[in-house]
Amino acid sequence: MQPLCLITGGGRGIGAAIARSLGEAGFRLLINYRSSAKEAEGLAGQFPGSAAVQADVATVEGCDALYEILKKDYDGQLKVLVNNAGVALDNPLFNASVEEFQKSVAANMQSVWYLSKKLARLMIRRKEGRIINISSIVGHTGNKAQSVYGMTKAAIDNFTRSAALELADYNILVNSVAPGFIDTDMTAAIPEEYKEKILSGIPLGRMGLPDEVAQVVTFLATSGSYITGSVIHVNGGMYG
Ligand code: NAP
Repeated sequence: MQPLCLITGGGRGIGAAIARSLGEAGFRLLINYRSSAKEAEGLAGQFPGSAAVQADVATVEGCDALYEILKKDYDGQLKVLVNNAGVALDNPLFNASVEEFQKSVAANMQSVWYLSKKLARLMIRRKEGRIINISSIVGHTGNKAQSVYGMTKAAIDNFTRSAALELADYNILVNSVAPGFIDTDMTAAIPEEYKEKILSGIPLGRMGLPDEVAQVVTFLATSGSYITGSVIHVNGGMYG
């Protein structure tokens, strides 16, 4: 039986590239989406034994639903969890609202903690698993108008450290992949003049591609058996 992986927010952007790459590496995919049903189902259809599953991972109910599906329909057989879903609600500090803060914390931070906590139970039973968290360069460098986003992403990398220490006893590896500026819908929203400024600060002189993040995630999912508690930077030389 091919190993099973769950990718949150796998319908588009970096998540879709990760799903495709893991599918090509021989995984059965459980592709979580919040609103991109058509994309997630289309992608799942390309890989035998794969499925798309709707859930809002910013909510406890959404994560509980994923846990139940894995337990009942897949006999708890989860090898890899990729916590990719996230939102960037950019706003200068003086403008940002408490509502934006809470939404960001729920989507970027609570989702990673709660889903990992729930699904680690399935991995602990099997004494095998890998959790790969998609954080961000911004969690290390900070960024204008991203005080909240940066906080949530820094928290993910700290969570990776603690979870790796706790779960090492059960042969579960936990790592973060921290992308720099990657060409997706998320970065398409950045104003052109600011984009030029970002590009001038990237040693490789271009934005990254979703596939370039996916390659690293697939390495951590299939190889890298002595890597845990690490943050792997994928940013064209900007940081790390
Ligand atoms: P994107 O193009 O905006 O896509 C966001 C993805 O997250 C979508 O698949 C979306 O699902 C999903 N999502 C958001 N909230 C969700 C929720 N509550 N429940 C389930 N799914 C949810 O973003 P991206 O650029 O691919 O980013 C993916 C991850 O990489 C994020 O964590 C982001 O912070 C991180 N990252 C991105 C960059 C970059 O430059 N692009 C850099 C560093 C880190 P639906 O479409 O189904 O709603």
